[in-house]
Amino acid sequence: MLTGLSSLFDGFSLLPSALQYAFVVAFGLVIGSFITVVVHRLPTMLERGWEAGVAEYLKDRPDASAATRPKGAESEEPRQFDESQPPPPPASPYNLMHPGSHCDACGHRLRAWENIPVLSYVLLRGRCSQCDVPISPRYLLIELASGLLAALAWWRFGAGWPAVAGFGFAAVALALTCIDWETGLLPDVITLPLLWAGLLINLSPTFAILSDAVIGAAAGYGFLWCVYWGFWWWRGVEGIGHGDLKLFAALGAWLGWSGLVQVLVLSSVTGAIVGLLMLATRRMRRDEPLPFGPFLAIAGCITLFAGTPFWPSLPLYGSGAFGG
Ligand SMILES: [Zn+2]
Repeated sequence: MLTGLSSLFDGFSLLPSALQYAFVVAFGLVIGSFITVVVHRLPTMLERGWEAGVAEYLKDRPDASAATRPKGAESEEPRQFDESQPPPPPASPYNLMHPGSHCDACGHRLRAWENIPVLSYVLLRGRCSQCDVPISPRYLLIELASGLLAALAWWRFGAGWPAVAGFGFAAVALALTCIDWETGLLPDVITLPLLWAGLLINLSPTFAILSDAVIGAAAGYGFLWCVYWGFWWWRGVEGIGHGDLKLFAALGAWLGWSGLVQVLVLSSVTGAIVGLLMLATRRMRRDEPLPFGPFLAIAGCITLFAGTPFWPSLPLYGSGAFGG
């Protein structure tokens, strides 16, 4: 099947360049539209899952809720899960497919023409056709960023699997950037498959040779693990989140260990600059943590696409073949 698809790439690359890019950008915009759904819904899906898990756990162990209650409050609070009460009605399913795309303000179900990436936003002039409430421009920005990344991957890696993989990586990085920035979460359901995908893609050396990818995954996790516990002993706080460890491991799997030095330097420097700017402009409180995931993800993308110009002594596998 892979050979069949490879000859499809050969046929596709015979098309005029403008037409190729038109297809590639359109594909990127459609994926971008899906990313907006993931960014919008996945955090809520995770929270509901955790709440259901906790409720399930406490239902099986009614004394557990008493154990976590503050002292002296034992008799005041009623039991949270009273078996004489009827169970709550099952919530309607909420996932990436259900309910269908709708306006958050009025519930209006989007018709097909209202759901076209970018074009619908322009046609609707950024407002819901039913209630006229403005649609957040972030949907448009995510779709445009995804279209741009698809074109960039095609230009950088040429017609073939590395371009598809490179864009896949960038699309996931885009989703993680938005989710972590807004919620402080780096969901395992994204970071762990990203790690496995990096190892699988480098089975046949693409962005790194396999041994460098395996070492990169372990070194990425191990290094930030040390940073995490170092912070814990030194300051008694979590300096970084567990999600950052898994994301850095995934970056190691994609880029190989040699790309991680640049990623770490770039992400730390840009993170510090952005953090200081946000403090200076009062957009962040001093005790508020700044998510590190966006800086890791963006530095990972820069390294995958551009190699290691900021750390040339550690080049990536096959770098130098710029522009496909
Ligand atoms: Zn509406």
